[in-house]
Amino acid sequence: MDYFPAFLSLRGRSCLVVGGGDIALRKVRLLTSAGAKITIVAPEFSHALTGFSGENGHQLVARPFRPSDVLGHWLAVSATGIPSVERSVYENATDAGIFCNGVDDIENCSFITPAIVDRSPIVVAISSGGAAPVLARKIREQIERMLPVGLSRLAVLARKWRARVSERLSDLLSRRRFWESVFDGPAASQAIAGDSRAAEATMALLLDEASLPQAGEAWLVGAGPGDPGLLTLRALQTMQSADVILHDRLVSKEVLSLARRDADLVSVGKLPGCRANTQDEINALLVSLVASGKRVCRLKGGDPFIFGRGGEEAEALRNAGLSYQVVPGITAAAGCAAYSDIPLTHRDLSQSVAFVTAHGKNSVDTLDWAALARDKQTLAFYMAVQRFPELMNNLINYGRSADTPIAIIEKGTTPEQRVIRGTLGQLTLLADAHRVAAPAMLIIGEVAALGIREQDPMPQSAQNYAKPELRMVQ
Ligand code: SAH
Repeated sequence: MDYFPAFLSLRGRSCLVVGGGDIALRKVRLLTSAGAKITIVAPEFSHALTGFSGENGHQLVARPFRPSDVLGHWLAVSATGIPSVERSVYENATDAGIFCNGVDDIENCSFITPAIVDRSPIVVAISSGGAAPVLARKIREQIERMLPVGLSRLAVLARKWRARVSERLSDLLSRRRFWESVFDGPAASQAIAGDSRAAEATMALLLDEASLPQAGEAWLVGAGPGDPGLLTLRALQTMQSADVILHDRLVSKEVLSLARRDADLVSVGKLPGCRANTQDEINALLVSLVASGKRVCRLKGGDPFIFGRGGEEAEALRNAGLSYQVVPGITAAAGCAAYSDIPLTHRDLSQSVAFVTAHGKNSVDTLDWAALARDKQTLAFYMAVQRFPELMNNLINYGRSADTPIAIIEKGTTPEQRVIRGTLGQLTLLADAHRVAAPAMLIIGEVAALGIREQDPMPQSAQNYAKPELRMVQ
């Protein structure tokens, strides 16, 4: 950042403007709207500038600029268009410790003025640091269109109620919630539309409600498999209104960066070398936060109700008499399949798809292998990397052909996604050759041979394993 952004209070403060033409007038107008007292120095003044200065009580000094003119001012603006004068104003101002702006003359600036969108008291300032003023102006036009003119009225309403709200709601959290309900609700639309009577009534009602003890809220939210573009709008909304976000390790950095800036982010996942929180500890933390009045977003990879233990967390909340909402997410099987161009079902090849977990010895032992080994179905295995040998052997022993296509999708939907394809009989060889690591999704079934693209990583070692006839099914 080359320039420090700040809003200056110039009300009643004296500023110097050097120049007597239209550009000087523009600056004088702007400084006047901020309440500055202005002295304008120039050998001659335009008619318009003389008139405007007279109306606003500014002082006109009709002679060339002198170095001592800068003294006693807070800011100097030079709008003469004469390089030697611009330089002299800048140097004298700088020597006197006064900020100076040479209009359209970045060399002679110790401050620059941004493009602004004025919905006072809301003011948006845009600057390109002098690099691209036209771009800054374009951005201003876009913001102009985004912000309704009535926004001023809403901000004025908020200013009027501020002290009363602080008096009634002593803690920060309830104040923040109150203002969010104002700005997201009917009070805002009424104020913007100019119906101040209705807006005031709504504010009074909201403040009465907010003064009652508030219950916390919980959302069990699916964050999808990694790509932040796969978040639902609802997930984003909850992440932006939660006080606390309890997230799994699998939730990507990019997704977490979309959380509200002042939300507490708490990782409850297992990190290498650290002890994982047990599910009971997570449940207890969730319940205690919500019971203490916090709005908690429990953010989980994929979908919260698919191998996410969301069901247990929901039950803990229910048992504690707390309400919650569930926000579904794109589960890893769907995300990985889509991002590697594998349709999980296909009219000719697969009539059903099973989401299966191979986590832990027990799971592998208790799966219905005869059912899973049947043809014309797709299997999507979660948490399976450690169990590839048992998976492969059981499916083949129960009758699924060793030639059945498979795809292993590691870190699916992220920039590091790898897709490794082959056949069921090659599963362990492929996984070893490519050093497949979690998180990875294993898709088994004829559909896994579809959508093979040139750019799929298929290094020499894997090509050795991939059967030529399989590559034909493109
Ligand atoms: N609730 C999650 C699943 C949690 S279990 C969901 O609906 O997706 C964790 C397993 O999900 C991992 O072991 C892996 O098999 C799978 N997984 C999650 N994210 C993945 C990703 N980006 N790429 C591949 N597999 C992923």
